[in-house]
Amino acid sequence: MPGLLFAAVVLVTAAVWVLRGMGRRRARAASRRGPGTSLAEAIPVSSFETIDEAVTARRCHCGAGVRAVGEGTRELDGRRFRYARVECDACEDEQVLYFDVTAVFH
Ligand SMILES: [Zn+2]
Repeated sequence: MPGLLFAAVVLVTAAVWVLRGMGRRRARAASRRGPGTSLAEAIPVSSFETIDEAVTARRCHCGAGVRAVGEGTRELDGRRFRYARVECDACEDEQVLYFDVTAVFH
């Protein structure tokens, strides 16, 4: 029975270590999911000002603000998209935010 207890302690310790080590990576990965993180999940907007507001409101996974460092357009299946490349002010992590601007042109 002590062997089983030891194994359980090792397992819990390893789990805590893995969770701590991957905490930051997981936060980073989580910030790459959800609305605006891909063309499939592009945020529908009715004006270009909304894009600026969304970029301003965006927070990096580290908690700092981001700023736009580039932008571009894409067209897919008759829909128009605009994307903004943003960079974190603190950790310089880059991310791309996608917006569905089809409604702007209608
Ligand atoms: Zn950051």
